[in-house]
Amino acid sequence: MEPNAWLMIASGQSSQYQGHNGYQDELPWLYSYDSNVNNAKKVKEGDIAIFTDGVKGLGSAVIRRILHHEGRKTIRYCPMCRNTNLKVRTTMEPRYRCDNGHEFDTPSPEQRDVTIYQAILGDSFAGFPMAITRKDLRLIEKAPTSQGGIRPLLAEDTEHFLHSLKSASRAAGGRPFSPRYDAPMFGSVAVREDVATYGRTSPGATPMTDFPITDRNKLLRLAKRGDYDRATIYDIVDRALICHVAYEIDGQPYILPTLHARVGDTILLHGHGTNRTLLHAGDNQPVAICITHVDGVVLARSIFNHSINYRSAVLFGNGRLITDPEEKNDALYRFTEKLQPGRWDDVRPMTDQEVKATAIIAVDIEQASAKVREGMPKDDEEDLAFPTWAGVIPIRTVVDDPLTEEHTPAEIGLPAYLREWVDARRHDISRPE
Ligand SMILES: Cc1cc2nc3c(=O)[nH]c(=O)nc-3n(C[C@H](O)[C@H](O)[C@H](O)COP(=O)(O)OP(=O)(O)OC[C@H]3O[C@@H](n4cnc5c(N)ncnc54)[C@H](O)[C@@H]3O)c2cc1C
Repeated sequence: MEPNAWLMIASGQSSQYQGHNGYQDELPWLYSYDSNVNNAKKVKEGDIAIFTDGVKGLGSAVIRRILHHEGRKTIRYCPMCRNTNLKVRTTMEPRYRCDNGHEFDTPSPEQRDVTIYQAILGDSFAGFPMAITRKDLRLIEKAPTSQGGIRPLLAEDTEHFLHSLKSASRAAGGRPFSPRYDAPMFGSVAVREDVATYGRTSPGATPMTDFPITDRNKLLRLAKRGDYDRATIYDIVDRALICHVAYEIDGQPYILPTLHARVGDTILLHGHGTNRTLLHAGDNQPVAICITHVDGVVLARSIFNHSINYRSAVLFGNGRLITDPEEKNDALYRFTEKLQPGRWDDVRPMTDQEVKATAIIAVDIEQASAKVREGMPKDDEEDLAFPTWAGVIPIRTVVDDPLTEEHTPAEIGLPAYLREWVDARRHDISRPE
């Protein structure tokens, strides 16, 4: 079957495209949507996707894999005709207008069962090398006036368009652009299937470039095990449940374990409104964050060459207390969904008092480094004949059967989203199956 081409709106805040609304785009890797969006079921592995934030083109990719699970979602619809295509008007009252022309102040909410899809892009995302407007993209749309978060494109014209961008960028001596429209797109590539972080706002595309190397993050010892590229570092960050945050007050270093969530190049940390670390760091103070996965004990023939297999990341930045209510709400959503995807919509909503009692800081990552050790012990040549066992004892962190709390009525079984999450992590929480 020929691949199709799609225009995908990566703008989680728009209430116009509700099938995509509510999901974070980790555009280099992943695009989320649900069965509420037109064409959701037609998108298939191998299709070409062009992404826009609704104003400009962001880049193109090939959909390597599509994962899906059942979930629930609040859909907002027109109280007069139940149409779900709503436009938010920033300068006019009433604020909402539906496709059928009804105007109203408050849309009606309804909880619906949906299928949530994650289109995994693997390594195929290529950011556009030059400014591309929505008008440019309309030229390759099959039905330029159609609505919805996923719109069909003219496949041949799309290929042509990407090809011409590639040539134009080369001719201008600009950033190389290598779209995957003609690549062996269905080949095997490493895909991030476990990206658990998705939230309400779209961080846009995070280019997977290297962090700058400075005195703070330059690896001196065993630098060959180090890496500064975002893909490696964020893989370590996103797969971890917790991090350790270090800061200093009056010459005294402190370090504390805490949960984290990542949005683009920002780490979110949360805690009680009186949390000393957060209030201190949130006042534009420098922090260092460390994340570690332990993969094995490495037993050599000499004590000196004993080691550990690990993946670790160190991040540096300054904290900023989030005070804007909407940003705070987004951050809380991301936290919950990072910890347990699907949970936000399945629990009692937070009260204003609870939101007030929670402090959240954003740390924009300025520098970062990763260090990874893997494989067997590195014994000295002259020790290889020493008669003792040498090798690696692998270590995994696994998820066990959930334990039901006593007030949970028997008829409420374990929700599918939890069952799926647990089952995918029985082998290793940091390397889901
Ligand atoms: C689970 C675990 C156990 C370890 N056990 C030991 C041990 O017992 N003894 C030991 O000497 N080392 C151990 N290491 C390695 C240790 O983290 C340091 O990399 C190493 O000690 C070098 O320290 P340094 O001060 O010379 O670092 P430098 O290379 O001088 O550090 C400079 C910069 O490099 C980066 N960097 C350094 N180490 C890491 C890292 N691990 N991850 C990400 N970025 C890093 C940071 O940005 C840091 O600011 C362990 C690492 C892990 C993850």
